[in-house]
Amino acid sequence: MRLNIILGDQLNWNSLLWQDVDKATDIFWMAEVAQASLQPASNKNRTVIFLSAMRHFAKEIEKKAFDVIYYRITDGFNSFSEVLTHTFHQHDITEIRCVLPGDYLVMQEIEHVVKQHRLKIDWLEDKHFIAKRGEFGQWLKQRKKPTMEYWYRHLRESRHILMEQDKPAGGQWNFDKSNRQSFSKHGPDPIKENPNYSVDDITQDVIDIVEKHFSQLPGKLDTFNWPVTRRQALIQLRHFIDHYLPSFGDYQDAMWTDQPFLYHARLSSSLNLKLLDPLEVIAAAEEAYQKNKAPLNAVEGFIRQILGWREYVRGLYWAYRKDWLQFNALNAKRDLPAFYWTADTDMHCLHQALKQVIDYGYGHHIQRLMVTGLFALLWQVDPKHIHQWYLGMYVDAVSWVEVPNTLGMSQYADGGIVGSKPYIASGAYINRMSNYCQHCPFDPKQASGDKACPFTTLYWYFIDQHNDLISHNPRLAMQAKNWEKKSHTEQHVIRERATWLFQHIDKKHKDT
Ligand SMILES: Cc1cc2nc3c(=O)[nH]c(=O)nc-3n(C[C@H](O)[C@H](O)[C@H](O)COP(=O)(O)OP(=O)(O)OC[C@H]3O[C@@H](n4cnc5c(N)ncnc54)[C@H](O)[C@@H]3O)c2cc1C
Ligand code: SF4
Repeated sequence: MRLNIILGDQLNWNSLLWQDVDKATDIFWMAEVAQASLQPASNKNRTVIFLSAMRHFAKEIEKKAFDVIYYRITDGFNSFSEVLTHTFHQHDITEIRCVLPGDYLVMQEIEHVVKQHRLKIDWLEDKHFIAKRGEFGQWLKQRKKPTMEYWYRHLRESRHILMEQDKPAGGQWNFDKSNRQSFSKHGPDPIKENPNYSVDDITQDVIDIVEKHFSQLPGKLDTFNWPVTRRQALIQLRHFIDHYLPSFGDYQDAMWTDQPFLYHARLSSSLNLKLLDPLEVIAAAEEAYQKNKAPLNAVEGFIRQILGWREYVRGLYWAYRKDWLQFNALNAKRDLPAFYWTADTDMHCLHQALKQVIDYGYGHHIQRLMVTGLFALLWQVDPKHIHQWYLGMYVDAVSWVEVPNTLGMSQYADGGIVGSKPYIASGAYINRMSNYCQHCPFDPKQASGDKACPFTTLYWYFIDQHNDLISHNPRLAMQAKNWEKKSHTEQHVIRERATWLFQHIDKKHKDT
């Protein structure tokens, strides 16, 4: 028998696994393993999304009259090694196929157990992605330094996406400058509600299991509303294109109190589970531009996230697959503050960004990069700890995309592979892009004193601590100069305030 392994984020019918299938000898295999929810500790929303989507997909496989072996989380298998070993003992397997996983460690684990049983596995190319196998590696070889912008242009030109003849639509590759608006003091206009995905029996069953067996995990399930089937994912796509895309570009970086989603797509989990194909998502956005239903800055900005960033981080994940978890360029060693698991902090921006992650498993890009990520960077959290948190807490988290975003873009643990500088900012940035500071006991302008914004204090402290790196980086040198311009007394009180923060900020949680 030939065993066809389908991992939890490989729920697409156009994968190579479905080619050359012989119903007499091919058997499909899916497994829910506890390790995926517990290491790292996962948000309940993330576990429900994965298990429910897997069960819906397995049902479709059965409907098409293919044989499927399906292990449920309650069957008690903790890891892929355990459950595969069980399968090898129960069935006469002679061949194994699997599409390339999104996690190098999972790939290693499967390879190891397969070898132990003197079998071989055929890794198939993942057709979900736009770049072909080896294409990123080839591109990388030709460049001194990988820059997302040029990778994006390469894919746009070669796939003829958002192009007019051989020129970028609108005569410009990038409309990023128009995509950094904040809201007026009145905040966003009323935003069309998202579709409601009613919880069917399959999802309810999973919710009950998670509440019963994983009650210790963070996350709230009474508001669970994520697509778990391709049909629901297509509804989400259409809703985004019709109602949110027109404003997506302008307010891509904006944040607002009690508005967790704003004009963002909420498509990442569906894309990463492979319920949606990135090219169909891009085509829908491009069509909206061609039909004058969305402006170019929004459409280009959105397409850049998927065609550019998504394909770029995947390429970099595999290029440095063995190294990522060893990276710690800034030698950061501190623990993650306990409030990352509870949202119990007076810092309003962090409270908002963390609470919505716990409640929905969601944060948009700027919340991840410039609130939760920025604080962890300034707090000097060990990159492995913050990586585990991001991997567990978001509904869309899978290693190939989470790792380079967290360890690279957000924490600069890679020393500048993903981005050319650490993304540092003071509370002034958060104040400019949101109304969070208006609800906060701290003052983003102050770096010392009782009302000092911790972001602002730690921002200057970071510049002080990493002066060599910052002053030699052309994009940050000005910030180092600004620090040097401060008087010795001012520098001294900022250092003192930072030391006080390190001793006190997380204390109440450690004491309890
Ligand atoms: C520290 C950190 C960790 C992140 N971890 C993940 C993760 O585990 N999984 C994940 O899918 N994204 C991750 N991202 C990228 C991004 O924040 C999310 O893709 C996005 O917020 C998802 O929400 P959305 O679907 O509403 O996206 P939108 O803001 O509406 O964007 C549209 C789509 O573009 C893609 N996209 C946007 N930015 C990126 C990016 N930087 N890298 C890859 N794809 C991108 C996503 O598929 C997303 O659905 C991370 C970013 C940071 C800074
Ligand atoms: S003052 Fe500082 S801590 Fe408070 S919301 Fe603004 S940036 Fe966040």
